[in-house]
Parts: sequence; C-alpha cells; structure tokens
Amino acid sequence: MQKGDVKKRIVVLGGGESGVGAAVLAVKQGFEVFLSDSGKIKPRYKELLNKYKVPWEEENHTTEIILNAKEVIKSPGIPERVPIVQEIAKKGIPIISEIEFAGRYTNAKKICITGSNGKTTTTTLIYHMLKMAGLNVGLAGNVGQSFALQVAEQDYDYYVIELSSFQLDGMYSFKADIAILLNISPDHLDRYDYKMENYVKSKFRITQNLSEDECFIFCSDNDVTTEHLKEIVVKAEMLPFSQEKTEDQTAYLIDQLMHINYQNSDFDVSIDELSLKGRHNVYNSMAAGITGHVLNIRKDIIRESLRSFEGVEHRLEPVFKVRGVQYINDSKATNVNSAWYALECMKSPVVWIAGGQDKGNDYSELFALVKEKVKAIVCLGADNTKLHQTFGEMVPVMVNANSASEAVLQAYKLSVPGDVVLLSPACASFDLFENYEDRGRQFKEAVKNL
Ligand code: ADP
Repeated sequence: MQKGDVKKRIVVLGGGESGVGAAVLAVKQGFEVFLSDSGKIKPRYKELLNKYKVPWEEENHTTEIILNAKEVIKSPGIPERVPIVQEIAKKGIPIISEIEFAGRYTNAKKICITGSNGKTTTTTLIYHMLKMAGLNVGLAGNVGQSFALQVAEQDYDYYVIELSSFQLDGMYSFKADIAILLNISPDHLDRYDYKMENYVKSKFRITQNLSEDECFIFCSDNDVTTEHLKEIVVKAEMLPFSQEKTEDQTAYLIDQLMHINYQNSDFDVSIDELSLKGRHNVYNSMAAGITGHVLNIRKDIIRESLRSFEGVEHRLEPVFKVRGVQYINDSKATNVNSAWYALECMKSPVVWIAGGQDKGNDYSELFALVKEKVKAIVCLGADNTKLHQTFGEMVPVMVNANSASEAVLQAYKLSVPGDVVLLSPACASFDLFENYEDRGRQFKEAVKNL
C-alpha cells in the first residue's frame, strides 16, 4: 500500500462471509472501513467485526456514510438494481468484489473455477488433490472461508477459488493463474436482464487479464462456450476437455478410459476408478486432472486423489438403502441442467422428488430421460402446477408433498426394491426451505427416520 492511501475509506456492503472477510482484510491493510448490511448480521460475524474494530450497521444503509467511500466492496448476493448500489454507481464510486480486493494482497497462485454447474465439486476435488500433493493451499470463494479472510490471516502458496458469476461481475484487474470454465447453461437470468449474452460475458470474465503464461481449461463439448470463444481472444494456453472428441483435446475419453495429454506426457485412468460417478463428474475430473498436470503434480497422486475424493454433501450424495431402495440427496441441483445430469446417471427406475421455486425453467431437455427412467414424481414445492402441466401426461404417477418428510414417505410408498429415490429438484428451495442445504438435511433426516 502507498503511504498516501492510509486514510482511503472503504465501505463494505453485506455482512456475510465475503463482506466480513473483506472488511477484516481492509482494516489489516490500514484502510478506514465501514460495513453496512440491510439485513441482520449473524452473531459470529459481529464478533469478528468487533474483534478487528470495524464499525458496522445492520438493517439499514446510512447513505451519507456510504457515499463517502473511495471504493465499495459489494457482496455478490446484492443485485445491481438495489437503490443504494445505484446511488453508489451514480456517484462514480468504484464497486468491486471481495475477490478483486483480496487478489491485490497475495502473491499466491490462484486456481479459479467457474461454470453454471459443478463449481463446488470441482473446486473441492482440486483442493483435495493439492492437499494430497502436500501443497500449502487454501479453499476459498463460494466454499468455506472467504478468500479475503484467508489472505488476511493465512499465508498460503496456492488458493483454489470457486467463483460465481456475481463475484466475477465485480472483478476487473484480478488475474487467475489457472482459469477453469466448466460449462454455461441458463441460470440466474433474472440478474442479467434476462439476456443470456450478459450471463455468458459474466462467466467469461474469468479469462480477463490472462496472458500467455496462464492457462485456460474449458469444456469444448459446451456449445455456448465454444461459440463465445469464436468471438473473443483469450491469450492464455488453451486446454480443452471433451467426452465427444479426441483431436486437439487435453483431456478426452476413449472407451472407458479418461486420457490427459499435457505437454506430450500421457496419463490415463479408467472412469470406473473415479470416485465421482456420472457423466458430469467425468468432466469435473478432467478439469481437475488437467490442473494437476499443469501444476506438475505427480501422476500417482493425481490418480489417487481422483480415486479417493469423497464428494460433497448434497451433490448426488448416497444417503441410505432402505428396503432395497437407494435414496440419493442431490438437493444442490437447483436448475434443470444439473437435474439432467443426475437423471442421466441413474441406472434403476427412479422415483423423482422435484420442484420448489421455479426460475423460469424450461423442462423440455429432460423429457427423454424422464420418459425412460422416471416411474413417479413427488412434487415438493409450494406451487406444483407447472410440474403437473409439464409431466402429467408423461409420468404415470404424480403426487404432491409439502415437506421433506412427506415427500420421503410418499416416495417410500411408491418405490419397490431395486428402485432409486432421487431428490434432484431442478428448482430453488426458498419456497419451503431456508436454502438447499436445509432441504438436503431435512431429506436425509426423513430417510433416517423411515
Ligand atoms: P455449483 O457449485 O456450480 O452449483 P455443484 O458442484 O454444487 O455445482 O453441483 C451442483 C449440481 O450440479 C449437482 O447436483 C450435480 O449433480 C450437478 N453437476 C455437477 N457437476 C456438473 C457438470 N460438470 N455439469 C452439469 N451438472 C453438474
């Protein structure tokens, strides 16, 4: 920091994980900081703010204090259309994300992962790999502790960072060392003026500032990604992965073997050996495997980490087998595309628990899979009309449930030994639950009580 910056005022909007982390880092860097949240701040975050003597307010935004800032760090959950954000922008005060801010204060290597689906899984898998390789690494972004708090309190050599499009929106000078784009499919369009191109551009911010020295790992089977790549220039080393083609791919599939060819060294692993099952997870494992090669991690460690990773809660998480029926918690499937991958990898007849808060879903891409695999649907939402209208003719049995326990009980009655009961809602959870974790936990609890 320059001497002249000592009194630079920073305002942080949002008192959650990322905002509080940013405030702590800013204080440690000698800035004058104020944090403001229009809602209630959780007690543990208040404690942290008080520990670092950060002044804060909750359930209010005091305009005069906020508009006095030289820079505003906005939490990704706060949409641009919120009046206070509009006012800040109108005054010309720069608005950045916590990741942008924290990136200024670390020289660690940053492996950044974005995509519409698979971010947490892939981020956690890569973190597991780097840990197994004995590297001094932090897990950050949307998972675990905020990046900023770790930059403030730890001294890592590497960070594996999960980036949502909302975080990317507030990033300008930040540069990843390894950038990974898993896929792009419609999601969160309400925050992007319902324009897909805006959402695509937001995801591609992960490539901004990359130079020839960094690399870009991406899925070349994803048409939205490849189409956009025709329109822009990415300077980084391009490392594509695919399950449909082999030519010019860094990772590809031949029969049941996943290959990685990086700098003329070949690596292969059978997909049966991968701990994460399903086609989508082959993509995630490819992205992780390429990362391991770029970082020069030993092949036996790459292989072992892909085999030993235990998966992440609420993502195709096997719960229990009850009376010969396997229950699976995929509560994190909050959009149609992720439910598609869940249904795709089911090998037995499915009693599908779906529904919740609809995000303008177009279910048509699920039709073939639903016809082939789903024997009954338990609709778990406050309003299930759209599900009935969409699948009523296609699926012989459809019932409604108002709670996780009711849904599990209905599914129990509708299933026979050999079936699978899959909670993969394709919708947000906020109509009946606090969040998707709450939905998943209540589901697991109900299965336990059967
Ligand atoms: P994110 O962090 O991007 O929301 P998660 O890793 O939490 O992604 O997975 C969310 C859901 O998406 C899971 O239910 C999973 O079944 C599905 N999924 C995981 N990886 C992929 C992928 N590469 N492509 C499509 N769907 C995926």
